Amino acid sequence: MDIAVIGGGITGAATAYELARRGVDVLLIDAKDLNTEASGRNAGSLHGMIQHPSFMERGEDWARSFLPALDLLTDSLNLWEGLSDELSVDLEVTRNGGILIGATQGQLDDIARKVAIEQGAGYSSRMLDQSELREMAPWVSPDMPGGEYMPTEGKANPLVAAPSFARAAERHGARFALGEPVRSITRMNDGYELEAGSTAIRARSIVLAAGDGMNAIGRMLNLDIPVTSEAVQVSATEPVKPLVKHLVYNAGDKLTLKQAHTGALLIGGGWPARRNSAGEWVVNPDSLRDNLRVAMKVAPAIANANVVRTWAGIGNATPDLLPILGEYESAPGVFVGIYPHMGFTAGPLMGRMLADLATRTAVNRNLQPFSPGRFGSR
Ligand SMILES: Cc1cc2nc3c(=O)[nH]c(=O)nc-3n(C[C@H](O)[C@H](O)[C@H](O)COP(=O)(O)OP(=O)(O)OC[C@H]3O[C@@H](n4cnc5c(N)ncnc54)[C@H](O)[C@@H]3O)c2cc1C
Repeated sequence: MDIAVIGGGITGAATAYELARRGVDVLLIDAKDLNTEASGRNAGSLHGMIQHPSFMERGEDWARSFLPALDLLTDSLNLWEGLSDELSVDLEVTRNGGILIGATQGQLDDIARKVAIEQGAGYSSRMLDQSELREMAPWVSPDMPGGEYMPTEGKANPLVAAPSFARAAERHGARFALGEPVRSITRMNDGYELEAGSTAIRARSIVLAAGDGMNAIGRMLNLDIPVTSEAVQVSATEPVKPLVKHLVYNAGDKLTLKQAHTGALLIGGGWPARRNSAGEWVVNPDSLRDNLRVAMKVAPAIANANVVRTWAGIGNATPDLLPILGEYESAPGVFVGIYPHMGFTAGPLMGRMLADLATRTAVNRNLQPFSPGRFGSR
């Protein structure tokens, strides 16, 4: 085929869709099934603000360097808006905005420094005082003095998004090789040969959308793709009455909180999972307890909702927390796409840009900050 896409998460499925609908002969390969890794395990947050934990850890210079990546999220959020119609599936996209809650004056000062950077780049985030916060989210603890509001944020259903891209790609003629781990990639005169499961595949170009498998795939091509991994967990409660309209974060301890269309509250924020004695990632009960403690501190009203499920998934990052997106000079025709921490939000746009790159179509934005070559491996 023309192009082989490795990875059946949202990045790969969106890429396969964008390629297939342009008439490209595309094969989507996954070691397992579609949507089995991060894209099907995430919390469904559609992010549009600079993430506060990263801001606190890395500071203002980093936040400014992140602005081109924030622009990607924003453009992807706009794609999410029309995606249910485009893919003919209800992806449960809602964009009521996000609220980052500060518990102390010190935290509000830190949030204000972040908002100043966002506003300086033209974003319409703004500070909320206590009465505005109470008006927007009356269920928030009266102890919380204020926070940030970012109007672009929202949520979508991660269980349906990537599979819907894949089904739409199939309607446009994409083919699939599922349960076929890519084990080797060999450069040929006119492209690449991939050994996937028991099948040998020839492709003119390859898109690497392998998430946590990116390091291993890179080694097959002698490329150092510096993707780091961290297993984190998310919990869902039983359905409760409509309460939480926004995507909610907390500036002190890690928290994301939202309410899915089913009524379930989704509680996460990057709390670490743990390995069991067999080396598998499993739920960490300490993280679960701490995560719920933070949620109840911010939102005492949810204390009676029973948690029915907690699961773990592997999140990925890059050394500078900017995406890696582009072609390797030493491996012409190999395109890599990974968006750290927020790849669910970025997925639709990543798919479109990877399809542009792989078909040599102008992307019409500066991709230099995301260049794969910036870490040394060219
Ligand atoms: C618990 C959790 C919560 C999160 N919450 C959010 C959130 O609320 N909002 C948000 O925007 N982001 C969130 N994220 C991040 C987001 O889920 C990921 O950034 C995104 O899903 C990455 O998508 P992807 O398609 O690039 O990778 P993945 O979904 O990981 O897909 C990669 C695929 O590649 C396949 N693969 C790997 N190696 C090979 C190989 N050798 N051969 C064949 N196939 C291979 C894998 O089987 C996998 O299916 C969260 C992540 C986690 C873990």
